[in-house]
Amino acid sequence: MARMTALVYEAPHQMPVREVDVPALRPDEVLIRVAYSGICGSELSGFEGKNALRKPPLIMGHEFSGQIEQLGQEAAARFPAFQVGQAVTVNPLITCGECLYCLRGQHQLCANRKLLSASLPGSNAQYVAARADAVLPLPPGMALTIAALTEPTACAIHIAALVVPRSHESALVVGAGPIGLLTIQVLQNCGVRHIYCADLNAERLAKATALGAGAVKLDEVRGQVDIVVDAVGAAITRQGCVAAARSGGRVVWTGLHEAESQLPVNDMIRREITTYGSFAYTRLDFANALQALAEGRLRLDPGWTRIEPLANGAACFIELLHGSPTVKIWLDPWQ
Ligand SMILES: [Zn+2]
Ligand SMILES: [Zn+2]
Repeated sequence: MARMTALVYEAPHQMPVREVDVPALRPDEVLIRVAYSGICGSELSGFEGKNALRKPPLIMGHEFSGQIEQLGQEAAARFPAFQVGQAVTVNPLITCGECLYCLRGQHQLCANRKLLSASLPGSNAQYVAARADAVLPLPPGMALTIAALTEPTACAIHIAALVVPRSHESALVVGAGPIGLLTIQVLQNCGVRHIYCADLNAERLAKATALGAGAVKLDEVRGQVDIVVDAVGAAITRQGCVAAARSGGRVVWTGLHEAESQLPVNDMIRREITTYGSFAYTRLDFANALQALAEGRLRLDPGWTRIEPLANGAACFIELLHGSPTVKIWLDPWQ
């Protein structure tokens, strides 16, 4: 069997590069030669051993682009347009397509869902296998780096799809990480003009202001904002988001930093605060994200991103855990 280089999470804070078998291809799968694999905030807690869904040994990585290397027999028959060498990205949320949620188009809630980089091997490797119906060919000319942003962009698009912002509403995004910065732009594309951002990291916050958001401290906008998005998920940001919402306002929870937090529920009742949980994306959100990126409707400035060899993976995880000014690091498994 062919071998490949992969970044393998073996124990908390231990993720060396190893030689492992190239994934055995099932008939309904496509083997992809990974070009870039982005490091996601949700994987940082996994690296620390704080995420019950990520158990060692595990190859993480679910925000990636690459080229088709090989097609399983069924995959080739069902998707005759797929060609070896074709540039693609993958929706890493593999869903059953048959449960009530899938039938309703709520794939993110699929009872049988599996995520690459959690229950399936991910893209921090030279090759990754994915079910063919999760593979999306890139529009012509799209850069492989930009394509690797499709997954976090889909999360941002899903937030807007849930909350349905109107152009006269104000919004506050808490957390200027990749999801926060992309959410600011999705809200702008929905016509929202008054957008604020809060983040304790001044370098990150400067990126939000570069996009046109107003920098605020979380307690500066108490009771003022129509739509508040928590892209952190700590008790202090969750409580701050509720306080920032105006009476009758809406709060979207998407950050997953802490499993449980205390909330002022009586205050939320008396001020009629509506809350939404926003998890991942539907298949439509994912397709819309790819299209929006291909058309240049969203961006992360080149200076906000970096490409690193796969072998530096563990060091990059540690850097991001300590609050790096770099918004997105892409691992290149061929460097
Ligand atoms: Zn992600
Ligand atoms: Zn399903």
